[in-house]
Amino acid sequence: MNIHEYQARQLFEKFGVATTKSGVATTPEEAVAVAEKLSSKEFVVKAQIHAGGRGKGTFTNGFKGGVHITSSIEEVRKIAGQMLGQTLVTHQTGPEGKLVSTILVAEPATIAKELYFAILLDRASGAPVIIASTEGGVDIESVAEHTPEKIFREHIHPTLGLQPYQTRKVAKKLGLVGAQINAASKLFSAMFRLFLARDCSQIEVNPLVITDKGELLALDAKFNFDDNALYRQPEIVAMRDKSEEDPREVAASEYSLNYIGLDGNIACLVNGAGLAMATMDIIQYAGGKPANFLDVGGGASKDQVTAAFKIILGDPNVKGILVNIFGGIMDCNIIATGILAAAKEVSLNIPLVVRLEGNNVEAGKKTLAESGLAVIGANDLADAADKIVAAVKKAA
Ligand code: ADP
Ligand code: MG
Repeated sequence: MNIHEYQARQLFEKFGVATTKSGVATTPEEAVAVAEKLSSKEFVVKAQIHAGGRGKGTFTNGFKGGVHITSSIEEVRKIAGQMLGQTLVTHQTGPEGKLVSTILVAEPATIAKELYFAILLDRASGAPVIIASTEGGVDIESVAEHTPEKIFREHIHPTLGLQPYQTRKVAKKLGLVGAQINAASKLFSAMFRLFLARDCSQIEVNPLVITDKGELLALDAKFNFDDNALYRQPEIVAMRDKSEEDPREVAASEYSLNYIGLDGNIACLVNGAGLAMATMDIIQYAGGKPANFLDVGGGASKDQVTAAFKIILGDPNVKGILVNIFGGIMDCNIIATGILAAAKEVSLNIPLVVRLEGNNVEAGKKTLAESGLAVIGANDLADAADKIVAAVKKAA
């Protein structure tokens, strides 16, 4: 799960990570009210979307930049008007961009130097790791490509936690001196406390800045949380913004289905993650392109299967469906009745290939045969893939 920058700032404030004062707005009037309350000479107006690269992004209305600095309150109103309700395209949003419905109005920092600082979970060492660089404010990916020696890591012991000597070591490597080292140690420790307490899988601060007065401030933050820990993080769950997520994935998560939207045109409904991946591979091998990964799990109910089918059919790119079920725990007849229930609610006018095998397969096949639905049967996985690819080609 991700959150917005303004929510990240709320967490920073709670955990004592230094940042600048700010407020959120959903209308130009609110933006003006926030700016007036800040009582600073300049203001930063920042579009809030779940994607980075906002500074260099462009709105589809032609307005350039999702991050603006201005000294006039009237300008804040104008900028807010150009951003709110508009779509911002950055190198991370894809060409379709993301709708901006909230903006952040913040006090600017007078930047002397931009740094990069992140804490993430390193699978290789099974522990959190700090990744930091003197090259902040730019894409860390391009730093990694062109000047990898400017990125350094510091592993954090999984039970001892981040030690004071480590925060000082990172601060020195970042080129900090004197009182900045203590300030940095404090900030890094606070960030690590936050990382642990909120079950983060990533906190990325880019830029972390040194101001002209030598202060250290986090100006932008991207968070990722471990979805499996959300059950014990009500504060984080409350920050979820479903409008930022793929609507197909939101619907799937409501029914506890493991769904990932892809850009092909052959939808698949499978039980078991391994079988689902094999099904996607074999669709590709047969010359097609999968529209999704969908694992309904071992013990799916009829309602879950119906929901899965409706999510698939709600995707306008889908031109054919391949159902591939190996009934070990799964009862094939539940799949069959789920398909029928969904087909009754939404009209099924694209080819459907069904391969059922295993537990209660005869009853499942009978249910489908007697339904009057135009189901194309298949004997094995390769046969099923060939048939759906051929049927989609024929229908096109
Ligand atoms: P993104 O990474 O999505 O482009 P950032 O929040 O990092 O968005 O903003 C882009 C750049 O804008 C930063 O690298 C920094 O130079 C500048 N900036 C952002 N927030 C502030 C701020 N509060 N004060 C001064 N400059 C800022
Ligand atoms: Mg940034």
